[in-house]
Amino acid sequence: MASQRVAIITQDEARWELPDWQRQQADLITDPAELLALLDLAASGLPESLAAARDFPLRVPRRYVDLIEKGNPQDPLLRQVLSVPAELEAVPGYGVDPLEEGDHTPVPGLLHKYHGRALLVVTGACAVHCRYCFRRHFPYQAHLSGKRWEEALEWLSARPDINEVILSGGDPLTLTNRRIGQLLDALAEIPHLRRLRIHSRTPVVIPDRLDDELKRLLSRPRWRTVLVLHANHPREISAQLAERGREWQQAGITLLNQSVLLAGVNDDLDTLVALSDGLHEAGILPYYLHQLDKVAGAAHFAVPDEAALALHQGLRGRLPGFLVPRLSREEPGKPAKTVLAG
Ligand code: SF4
Repeated sequence: MASQRVAIITQDEARWELPDWQRQQADLITDPAELLALLDLAASGLPESLAAARDFPLRVPRRYVDLIEKGNPQDPLLRQVLSVPAELEAVPGYGVDPLEEGDHTPVPGLLHKYHGRALLVVTGACAVHCRYCFRRHFPYQAHLSGKRWEEALEWLSARPDINEVILSGGDPLTLTNRRIGQLLDALAEIPHLRRLRIHSRTPVVIPDRLDDELKRLLSRPRWRTVLVLHANHPREISAQLAERGREWQQAGITLLNQSVLLAGVNDDLDTLVALSDGLHEAGILPYYLHQLDKVAGAAHFAVPDEAALALHQGLRGRLPGFLVPRLSREEPGKPAKTVLAG
């Protein structure tokens, strides 16, 4: 009995000492029933929602749920995170590896698709599961088992033509600052790497992730760091994210944003204009607006090219050029992204 109590106290204390963002990340909503209840929504489609979440589980931080409108089953933020029956439909042209990334993996944990750049898959974990994610079927176990980063670092060391490394996943900012620091130390030893880029959605769903320790790590003079965030809707730019964004910009870290054009989420002009405005207020520049990658389970998010081009034209009419993201698509086998409208 006494030892049980000691164990419980120790666990609680350890949890208490975690930084805010880690506590939030350890306390995600993973049950569709709980999510619906928190949002005052009926549980009528629950069995289908549970079935859709079986292969790609639901994961949503509570801070993100605070941004969702209660009682609105069509809320654009909810649509991005709630598993729905449409995910179970097989749609021709949609597959498990839409970008054929399996063909661009010289060593486990590293993708080399484009000239001069390589992408490190540093973790399979994400703070949120986005239902449209093109890596929702990615075989993370094959990439992250065994020696983890060793082979990828060796490959990078032997390739002087690679001057930019991109940390991706999963979401690299789900790693602790200590692990990120270790990885950056190892990468800093490779002299031909000049640019460091990090792709992350975590700060959008848990703004506390942009903490001072991480800012210090990424502001090192070894390289000019580019942090590419992933926000799709203006309501995702919370006051806290905007405040941290401005601080980080002042610390010399370049902040960009890439969005995915998603039916029922951001496929209207006012929303996209407000998104660019909000990003700019937060010190973040709109960079790409991606057409959906054709991943199985996400076909209900697709926006036809014609409609996408019309939206982009509308953005050009309403915003200065530097706030208009490039409308693009990634196509397997191509040497660069295809820009549909710049
Ligand atoms: S955070 Fe990024 S990698 Fe993770 S599920 Fe969302 S889109 Fe996919």
